[in-house]
Amino acid sequence: MDDRRIRDVVVVGGGTAGWMAAAALSSTMGDQLRIRLVESEEIGTVGVGEATIPAIRLFNGLCGIDEDAFVKATQGSFKLGIEFQNWGRVGDSYMHAFGQIGQSLDMIEFWQYWLRGRQEGVAAPLGHYSFNETVGRAGRFARVGRIPNTELDGISYAFHFDASLYAAFLRGLAERNGVVRTEGRIREVRLDPQSGHVAAVELESGESLAGELFIDCSGFRGLLIEQALETGYVDWTHWLPCDRAIAVPTANVGTLRPYTQSIAHAAGWQWRIPLQHRTGNGHVFCSAFMDEDEARRVLLDTVEGEPLADPRTIRFRTGMRRKAWNRNVIALGLSSGFLEPLESTSIHLVQNGIARLLSHFPDRNFAPANVEAYNRRIAYDYERIRDFIILHYHANQRDEPFWRQVREMAVPDSLQDKIDLFRATGRVFREQEELFTEVGWFQVLTGQNIVPETYHPLADVLTRDELAGFLRDIKTIVSAPVSRLPTHEEFIAHQCAAV
Ligand code: FAD
Repeated sequence: MDDRRIRDVVVVGGGTAGWMAAAALSSTMGDQLRIRLVESEEIGTVGVGEATIPAIRLFNGLCGIDEDAFVKATQGSFKLGIEFQNWGRVGDSYMHAFGQIGQSLDMIEFWQYWLRGRQEGVAAPLGHYSFNETVGRAGRFARVGRIPNTELDGISYAFHFDASLYAAFLRGLAERNGVVRTEGRIREVRLDPQSGHVAAVELESGESLAGELFIDCSGFRGLLIEQALETGYVDWTHWLPCDRAIAVPTANVGTLRPYTQSIAHAAGWQWRIPLQHRTGNGHVFCSAFMDEDEARRVLLDTVEGEPLADPRTIRFRTGMRRKAWNRNVIALGLSSGFLEPLESTSIHLVQNGIARLLSHFPDRNFAPANVEAYNRRIAYDYERIRDFIILHYHANQRDEPFWRQVREMAVPDSLQDKIDLFRATGRVFREQEELFTEVGWFQVLTGQNIVPETYHPLADVLTRDELAGFLRDIKTIVSAPVSRLPTHEEFIAHQCAAV
């Protein structure tokens, strides 16, 4: 039988996406593939992207990465969720914490009891029943598998890290696995005239890198997927109109929060990401409602520590490539699309694209059905995350023109259906392979003040006293162990402080 196996892979770009792809492919298929990566120091990387979600631990596990060594090497810290300030109304605050909340009972989720408890005036704020939120707000952290003396899940965590140090860390790993890096600027992408596939990338040095499969990690420019193959872009700026971010690192002040902060402003929002050596800050805003000078001033007025560099503007257009996989090119990272970092999903989408690539790994026939199946799954992943991000904007009660516009706009049907179902029944369902869980949706829907008309009827099996007792017990179980945990700083100093 004709051997159609792919042997030669070229990764274009050495940002987070490029080195994640090289590290994962070399860790899993390294003995079957020759993997080369080309990047240009002169062009550099986007240089932001510091907050993640818990699934990153699976990626690190796949690459055989020791977690403490990784946190140390990337000046990392631990992340238990995201605190949203001023999103529903100015002055509001809620957390989208990772992990479970409370304990489900009689086949229904804990929050159905909480909804009833809130209606009857016997429930505390939702976060009091979340172990992650309670530990996070206390500034503590430890790896806890179960809440002591219970069957309840312990702490679910992700990381904040310096993205350029993460890329360097993965580079070391990939090169040890045999990946060969070429420094240089690509000046031309050569297509095969018959198949239209990418045949080679030509460098300014004159060197040419031929390959069978190309992974385009060239950032926003989409050197292969767009500039060479003209794949096209699905624009979502009518739903997510923010189009710029100003980023600035600052010195750390006060305690090291084990969570990201997202603070809404008049025409966008600001992130605060605490690392060991500095805090990452940025202001994502909509240039139709705020000019750059004002956006910079808002950011500099609200950072907590001294700026460590000049603020820098990054422009973007929210949306996704019409096909993430076109011919023999697979786009990962910013070349495949962009969703603002409100729920820290970009690095996850890189990881997700790699996982899907591994499960759909082609041969040189590039079976169209396989390519289409991959593209369908990637589009679904993007669209469901897009909906979740739109929800944060749409469900607001603020007064500024920007916020009125996003409140009044029509949202995708897939999101409107979820909101309608929740409003009418207090229920939310995770569909197919969508990333965010029911409890994640619930925290944002409730945090942004969408109040359902009712709750699940099974929550009525308890008497009012039983309900109050149940809620009280869960709150006690969740809060009791917290003071015995180390502070976030103590944990890092003991386990994984950068030197
Ligand atoms: P880049 O970092 O841009 O890398 C592109 C690479 O291609 C570089 O190595 C470059 O040298 C190379 N290249 C390009 N052209 C050529 C050429 N002609 N020749 C040779 N090499 C070339 N993600 C998160 O998960 N969490 C976050 O908190 C988060 N925050 C973000 C905030 C902002 C404002 C932005 C814009 C993004 C954020 N992201 C975040 C996304 C995250 O930064 C990116 O997904 C991630 O860094 C991947 O980038 P990349 O590798 O695709 O592109």
